[in-house]
Amino acid sequence: MTASTNEYPTRAYGATAPDSGVGPMQITRRGLRHDDVLIEISHCGICHSDLHSARNDWGFTTYPIVPGHEIVGTVSAVGESVTRHKVGDRVAIGCMVDSCLECAHCEAGYEQSCLDGGMTGTYNGKDRRDGSLTFGGYSERIVAREEFVLKVPEGMPMAEAAPLLCAGITSYSPLKTWKVGPGSKVAVAGLGGLGHMGVKLAAAMGAEVTVLSRSESKRADAEKLGAHAFLNTEDKAAMKARRGYFDMVLNTIPVRHDVTPYLHILKINGVQVLVGMIDMMPEMHTGVFLGRKVLTGSGIGGLAETQEMLDFCAEKGILPDIEVIAMQDVQTAYERMEASDIKYRFVIDMESLRENA
Ligand code: NAP
Ligand code: ZN
Repeated sequence: MTASTNEYPTRAYGATAPDSGVGPMQITRRGLRHDDVLIEISHCGICHSDLHSARNDWGFTTYPIVPGHEIVGTVSAVGESVTRHKVGDRVAIGCMVDSCLECAHCEAGYEQSCLDGGMTGTYNGKDRRDGSLTFGGYSERIVAREEFVLKVPEGMPMAEAAPLLCAGITSYSPLKTWKVGPGSKVAVAGLGGLGHMGVKLAAAMGAEVTVLSRSESKRADAEKLGAHAFLNTEDKAAMKARRGYFDMVLNTIPVRHDVTPYLHILKINGVQVLVGMIDMMPEMHTGVFLGRKVLTGSGIGGLAETQEMLDFCAEKGILPDIEVIAMQDVQTAYERMEASDIKYRFVIDMESLRENA
């Protein structure tokens, strides 16, 4: 197939209101622009952000919304000027589908923090050229600008590759930024989709890894995933015993909570990176910072860094632990995710949408 101005009617799942749940809907993918790639989606991971967005937890959802930003599939057509991808290539899209690619941040590889209006989200974003609403990966196919389409490394299974596009890069980027390596002591708070990738990646980088979790039932898993220790955060004495111990806490907890206990367990100059809880923080006493603790955050990763992470995972044989589900079961998956009943990422097999729509 070559470039076409024809639009593509596409089956999808999405929400129409905060309380509508996620159900079947029909969307239209644009006809290919000269620099566009058409991708038949094989799998899409389910991120906690999908759930936050479908329910408008953050207050900026535009409906209808089709979530999904852990997308993998195969190229089925390309625009006339596309050089990076060809029909048949195994490719991936993460949380963004466009940015200006010209500002200082984009030039430095931080497209996710584009100075010209921010990145264009894969869903709930506004197309930079025609202003239309972007729709995510809970769908049969997607059209995106070639620069924002990444390569799935050869031999990597598609279903497992999907969660790397958000859970993988969101954990990888801060670990790289704060130079985690042999000798580093890293704690990962919240053992879910992001957290379990944080454990695997930090361990692969040579760090000593501790899981901080409220779920005693995950103790055995933590070790299987590569962690060296498990700390139940409800156990105040155990938390106290780790005061001043860690170089970094990767905090993936998705709800409003007091981050102070996670600062106390840092060494001087240690850093707590918030990747979850995109929300207001509870009030906190600033005294803890006198111990020279750093509190910061991190959002996904840039395009080059995301490709680097995919290649790193391929080289080291790192893959997420997934549970593959049918598109029709997404609502149950959301409920289980909220109940922390997840090991450790749901991935939708998009064949189920094609067969049963
Ligand atoms: P997830 O799979 O649901 O995992 C979150 C984990 O946090 C849970 O498994 C649980 O682990 C812990 N947790 C859940 N509820 C909690 C509560 N009430 N109190 C304390 N701990 C709780 O979610 P995810 O997909 O990893 O996403 C995590 C967060 O990161 C979400 O807020 C998501 O929106 C955000 N996110 C941010 C970025 C970014 O760029 N910064 C990218 C992707 C996602 P335990 O059972 O071990 O306690
Ligand atoms: Zn995500």
